[in-house]
Amino acid sequence: MVEIEIAAHAGACYGVERALAMARAAARDAEGPVRTLGPLIHNPLVVDELAREGVSVAQSVSTADAGTLILRTHGVVPRLVEQARAQGLHVLDATCPYVKRAHAAARRLVRQGFQLLVVGEAGHPEVEGILGAAGDGARVVSRLADLDGIDLAERIGVVVQTTQTIERLQQITDALLARAREVCVVNTICAATTDRQRAARALAEREDVMIVIGGKNSGNTRRLAEISAASCPKTHHIEDVAELESSWFYGARLVGITAGASTPAAHIDRAVAVIGGMCDSA
Ligand code: SF4
Repeated sequence: MVEIEIAAHAGACYGVERALAMARAAARDAEGPVRTLGPLIHNPLVVDELAREGVSVAQSVSTADAGTLILRTHGVVPRLVEQARAQGLHVLDATCPYVKRAHAAARRLVRQGFQLLVVGEAGHPEVEGILGAAGDGARVVSRLADLDGIDLAERIGVVVQTTQTIERLQQITDALLARAREVCVVNTICAATTDRQRAARALAEREDVMIVIGGKNSGNTRRLAEISAASCPKTHHIEDVAELESSWFYGARLVGITAGASTPAAHIDRAVAVIGGMCDSA
């Protein structure tokens, strides 16, 4: 008999629930077309669901010619908001308040004269948004080795992409302390992220098989899969229950499930039902 356990913290976070509610309300109430600037969240299944409900994706501000433009949870660079308003679009800001906190911290550190480093994934929309909020001169540090390519000032300010691990932040901060006179770190990692990572680690340590649900393009889901795989080699990252294979569960007694911060609870429920059915018929 297989037991299925769900991580203590898993699935859609506050910022994602809030953005989805805003998008659905706009689809219901707003006049004219409703679009998100890029996918609202990193979950293709949810983006398809929204399209069916009347919320489509604009790949750029210039391709949204009228109606409402929703800014996604990751935030955007400020000049895009100005461009959208100048085009006469109604801008609905679904940027997560915790991402906005990172923007505010970045601006404050720059104002206080620190050279700003953003610990995060280069090119990720959230990191681009933080860089945009900070203004010229801010740099991204994805890995320790990136520090070698930066001409470091004496006073360094650090903020971090909300979905990074505390270990990554600590590693980079330790290296900076050895090189700079003053290091001011604002830990902008979101509690939803650390809670999900901690819960995934605890669960993976005791499970035979781990299923991680969420967009393959979702950084926080990929990190959950990495954390899980470090303790449970039989970890599978799926986006959709159609990817589940019954052979993964042969001989398993404990199956753990976790899900990224952009995975609705309904997707977790579906996975539980499908895995249960596969195990019962094995
Ligand atoms: S993970 Fe945190 S920062 Fe990102 S959308 Fe969710 S609540 Fe906001």
